[in-house]
Amino acid sequence: MIYKPFQDLSLSTLGMGNMRLPTNEKGTIDRQKAKEIIEYAYHNGVNYFDVAYRYHGGEAESFVGEVLSEFPRDSFYLASKMPGHMMNYVDGKLGFQGYLSDFHVDSISEIFEEQLQKCRVEYFDFYLLHNVCETSYDFYTNEELGVVRYLLEQKKAGRIKHLGFSSHGRPETIERFLDHYPGIFEFVQIQLNYLDWSLQDAGKKYELLAKRNIPVIVMEPVRGGALANLPEKSATMLKEARPESSLASWAFRFLQSLPNVLVVLSGMTTLEQLKENIDIFSKDDAATKEETALLFKAANAMGDFVPCTGCRYCVEDCPQHLDIPKLITMYNELTFAGKRTLNFTIGGMKEEELPSACIACGACQRVCPQGLPIPEIMAKFADGLK
Ligand code: SF4
Ligand code: SF4
Repeated sequence: MIYKPFQDLSLSTLGMGNMRLPTNEKGTIDRQKAKEIIEYAYHNGVNYFDVAYRYHGGEAESFVGEVLSEFPRDSFYLASKMPGHMMNYVDGKLGFQGYLSDFHVDSISEIFEEQLQKCRVEYFDFYLLHNVCETSYDFYTNEELGVVRYLLEQKKAGRIKHLGFSSHGRPETIERFLDHYPGIFEFVQIQLNYLDWSLQDAGKKYELLAKRNIPVIVMEPVRGGALANLPEKSATMLKEARPESSLASWAFRFLQSLPNVLVVLSGMTTLEQLKENIDIFSKDDAATKEETALLFKAANAMGDFVPCTGCRYCVEDCPQHLDIPKLITMYNELTFAGKRTLNFTIGGMKEEELPSACIACGACQRVCPQGLPIPEIMAKFADGLK
């Protein structure tokens, strides 16, 4: 494993994301398989573990905390996040939004204390404001509520070692937030990969953070697996250049070529993925300038590809209970390979599971961190199936 220095720490360049742990038929974490993955990561050099308040419906923090509690506390670094992107503060009252609107807490400290308890730790090595973006900006900067003030107090008390934030926001929003709290945030977590370099302005975000000497933690390095399953034209370009390399390894090697990237978080669902990733992050094999140019060319060749990351934030808000990420995967298949390959899958689905069941209410689009026009995609998909 390759390690990088961060202040007085040495962090594994591959970090364990815990948003996509294996699940069972009930949709909850498959404890046996997930434990095996986390333990294997720990024993094979991964020392950065990332969770958040609502990963796996709120189950991830307690599960990961339980598994890591077997190990000495100073042998791993644990990161979690304040879920302000799902909250509001109206007339002095805290509340949750969307599918969590029935969920109540009285204070920010109630959430933070619960997180420490669930994770079975006395401090977080890394703590983040979850998704500082256009819609959460006012919440995080509300002085009366004082989220940042409270977290700085926890840092002073040694309960947070390093404070940062994650963001799916625009580069200007990230810049504005950093200016609002100068010198406070020690690292920033962004969605960064060779497709989003232009598509989501991730290149601009990376450059602005590098200019300020703020290290980057990467999320969605393979875009929820999409960059490991490229459309044929793009896949062929990469396969011809390096037949022995997997498509996922191209995405990781691109990130290895960026010096301001500190840790690459990968949400690994299987032991095989983890083993392959550990192998990639054990060798210094960063993409060359020519290979980076080829990657950007492959990204451009993806055409109408809908870049859903499979985060499933949208699913719980859908009144029609549509499996939106699954439908988007199918839509991408329809776009690239035509209807014929989809017939079998579609044939096994009920009317109410098809894109035509979408009522265009827009609830999904409001919570999608990628800003995808989901109702429009569902309508196009439904048309394409006629
Ligand atoms: S717009 Fe369609 S897919 Fe989105 S939440 Fe509404 S019904 Fe579900
Ligand atoms: S549509 Fe958006 S919110 Fe839904 S799974 Fe895809 S990226 Fe996530």
